[in-house]
Amino acid sequence: MKDSIIYNIPARLVPVFRGRKMIVRSHDPSEIVRNVTDGERGDISFVRVLSLTGEIDVMMGWGYGIPVELVVSHPCRDLPLLYRYAPLLEVHPIRVSVPLEPGFGKVVKLAVSLGFAVKVEGGQPEESLAAELQRIARFYLHQSTVSEPIEFFHSLFLAFYHQDPLSLWMIQEEDPSLIRFITDQGEETLPGRLAGEGDIQGLAAFLQALRDGTAVEAAECAGCVFLRQCLGYFKWPRKEYRCDVVKELLHTLYSAAEELRADMASLDASGEGEGR
Ligand code: SF4
Repeated sequence: MKDSIIYNIPARLVPVFRGRKMIVRSHDPSEIVRNVTDGERGDISFVRVLSLTGEIDVMMGWGYGIPVELVVSHPCRDLPLLYRYAPLLEVHPIRVSVPLEPGFGKVVKLAVSLGFAVKVEGGQPEESLAAELQRIARFYLHQSTVSEPIEFFHSLFLAFYHQDPLSLWMIQEEDPSLIRFITDQGEETLPGRLAGEGDIQGLAAFLQALRDGTAVEAAECAGCVFLRQCLGYFKWPRKEYRCDVVKELLHTLYSAAEELRADMASLDASGEGEGR
C-alpha cells in the first residue's frame, strides 16, 4: 500500500515528500535541520547523517526526539568521531550503522558503551571476518552492559526465539515492499543493496520471487535451515557468494535462542509442577 511505504530521500526533497513517511539523509547535519521543520516531524522515521565530520551543534536545539542514524563508512577511520555525538543523546535517540568490514566490532563496542543502538550493514562478509563476527555475536548475547539493540543480531535472535518468519530484508530495512530509495537525482529505486537490481515496474515480480524463493541462488539456499528468516539475503549482490561465514553466525544466534526457549519451557514446567 502506497501510504505505508517509507521513502529514503535526500534532505533537499523534504518539501516534495511532505505527508509521506520519510528517512531523510544528508552529509551535512545543518542541511537536515534547514529542511526538516516542525511541520514535517510527524512524517520523519529517522534522519541519516552520512558523514561524521559535519557541524553537529545545530542538531542540539532541533527536532527533539527525532531518531538520528550516524553512518560509519570506514570503521577504523570513523571510530574516534563517534565520541563527538555523545551529547546528542540528550536530545535524540541515536543509532550507528556500520558496514561489515574489518574493525566493525570496535565500532559496535564503542557505540554500545556510548549508549547508541547499532545496525550492522552489508551482507557478504569475507572469511577473514568470521572471528570478529563470532566475537560480536557473543558480546551481544552475553554482555550484560548491552542495553541498546545491535541489529540485525537482535531481531534475528528474537525471530528465532519466537519462531517468527520476520525476514532479514525487513530487519535490515531493505524490503522493497516497505522502503524505497530516492536517488540524489530524484529517481525512485529499490532500497539498500537492491538499488540497481531492478526497476520499480519489475518490483511486483521481484517481491513475489523473494517470497517464493525463486529470487535466491537455488542450490545453497534450497537446503538451508535459515531460509525462512534469511530469504536469500546474503546472496546479494553476488549470487555466487558462499554462506559459510554467515551460517556460522546464524547458527550461534539460533542455538542461543533455542537454548533460551528450552530454559523458559523448563521454568514453565517447574512452575506448573509447584502450583499443583
Ligand atoms: S544463509 Fe545463505 S544459503 Fe542460507 S538462506 Fe541465507 S543466503 Fe541462502
